[in-house]
Amino acid sequence: MKVTQPNARHLDAIIVGAGLSGIYQLLSLRDKLGMNVKVFEAGEGVGGTWHHNRYPGARCDSESHSYMFYFSQALVQSWEWSERYPQQSEIQRYIDHVADFFKLRPDMVFNTRVNAAAYDDAANLWRVQTSDGQSWSADYLITAVGCLSSANVPAIEGLDSFKGQWVHTSAWPKEGVDMRGKRVGVVGTGSTGIQAIPVIAEQAGHLTVFQRTANYSIPARNAPLSEDFKQYVKEKAQDIRQLMNETPNAHCFRIDPRSALEVSEEERLAVYEAAWAKGGLQFRATFADLLRDKQANDTAAEFIKAKIRQVVKDPEKAALLSDIDHPFAAKRPPIDSHYFETYNRNNVSLVDIRSHPIERITPQGIKTAKAQYDLDIIVFATGFDAMTGSLLRMNISGRQGLSLKDAWAAGPRTYLGLQIPKFPNLFTITGPGSPSVLCNLPPQIEQHVNWITDCIAYMRDNGIQQIEADEQASDDWVQQVNEAANATLLPQVLHSWYLGANVPGKPRVFMPYAGGFGRYRGICDEVVANRYRGFHLHCQLAGSSLQTDK
Ligand code: NAP
Repeated sequence: MKVTQPNARHLDAIIVGAGLSGIYQLLSLRDKLGMNVKVFEAGEGVGGTWHHNRYPGARCDSESHSYMFYFSQALVQSWEWSERYPQQSEIQRYIDHVADFFKLRPDMVFNTRVNAAAYDDAANLWRVQTSDGQSWSADYLITAVGCLSSANVPAIEGLDSFKGQWVHTSAWPKEGVDMRGKRVGVVGTGSTGIQAIPVIAEQAGHLTVFQRTANYSIPARNAPLSEDFKQYVKEKAQDIRQLMNETPNAHCFRIDPRSALEVSEEERLAVYEAAWAKGGLQFRATFADLLRDKQANDTAAEFIKAKIRQVVKDPEKAALLSDIDHPFAAKRPPIDSHYFETYNRNNVSLVDIRSHPIERITPQGIKTAKAQYDLDIIVFATGFDAMTGSLLRMNISGRQGLSLKDAWAAGPRTYLGLQIPKFPNLFTITGPGSPSVLCNLPPQIEQHVNWITDCIAYMRDNGIQQIEADEQASDDWVQQVNEAANATLLPQVLHSWYLGANVPGKPRVFMPYAGGFGRYRGICDEVVANRYRGFHLHCQLAGSSLQTDK
């Protein structure tokens, strides 16, 4: 898309997206650096992914005290979570609270999508067109579009002909979907499906779950937070933040340094039982080598499969649900509230679409290779065009009109997940190549936003007008991302969205950095200490083109 700019208004920076990353980036540039900044947001309010993912059962899978900002003591003291794993509505209230606490809304433009953004080589500016027909220019363009915001609605033949209602979980209608007494089908058993299925089962007349890949899930053991715990979070905020900065997944739990294979079977089972009883993502932290050693992983996998077979009474359903084809936690492991128990309800059936795939959607429902299932509502819990989808949808072009689509035709190529060669002064918060979805997001968002803000301050203080990732440094980083992934079991799951494998035609590239948050922070800090090694910094000499400053 060509970006024309007859009456463009100029800003110091444009931020795309008003989720957690967009609002902290706005606060940092506006209040720390005094910049003139606007956030453009397609939704009608702040919240990003949490604004749109209002499906029944939507909750955070990180513990609430880790899923918040710690950069401001005043903010920490102003907020209390009610539950261990807060619901979507409570997270939305938190994000609204942050926006109001720092009076951010006046610099945000809602219901407005960025339709195109083009780098102007001659002027060293970003030229941006928004869906309200306005034109803008800015020195910096910062994407804060999240990793999981572009819905993956499967292109199944006949969807248009369906006479009932269909909905994707990430675009859940604000007014809700009335499922009472209805025949509901859910396609997808990832984290979203696993959260939604138990709640939908309580509402629907009959629920049919269409499972392609069986999945592990650990009980969340969600519960209200005690007053003591709420007090602990306020008093120990700095310790909590420190802990998250040190752990590989930026969560509040440490990984046991032992191998699952070095302890006796009795001890190993006791460890797993205790972790199962405690619940939550920390089941992954029971032993150090669960994600590195297949034999170690098998011990956890077998434990969970046995639990599934214990919980699910119908042997046929139990067999289907426990027939899991990948190592535990090699796909993002869901946590649940009564997911497997739900299959013991009389109004819930399970259809194996691995053996008998969906052939088409008919006016009445879903037809698989084996049978027709009549439905009133179809819920697609089929995930996202993760990490790159929202960036590519924005029609971004860099030097000499190079489109991001072409630049990334073979998969995303970034330096540190922060910048893309040939796209100067563009920063991508939690972009592909950063730990992003492999870690708890708020600590990473803080780290990325602080890094970008410090970088822009450094540029300003040193008269630098342009920063651009070096081609070789980016290739080396992609290599490091691959090596980090290959040291784990993660790339072994061929249908994982980490690899882009859930979207037909998407290049198969392992996208997040799996080397750990602590290590990643260290690399980013070291790059800065070495005067932004791997980036080209240019300063404008009067009346001449841009020159390298070193
Ligand atoms: P997902 O993990 O990609 O799962 C999608 C599900 O839909 C899978 O079971 C997949 O089967 C199935 N599917 C996809 N296309 C299909 C098709 N054409 N036909 C039949 N089945 C199809 O997506 P998600 O569950 O939305 O989760 C994505 C990520 O969002 C999570 O991993 C997590 O990071 C995040 N999330 C976080 C929270 C939270 O609490 N913070 C909650 C929900 C989600 P296959 O496995 O066979 O592809």
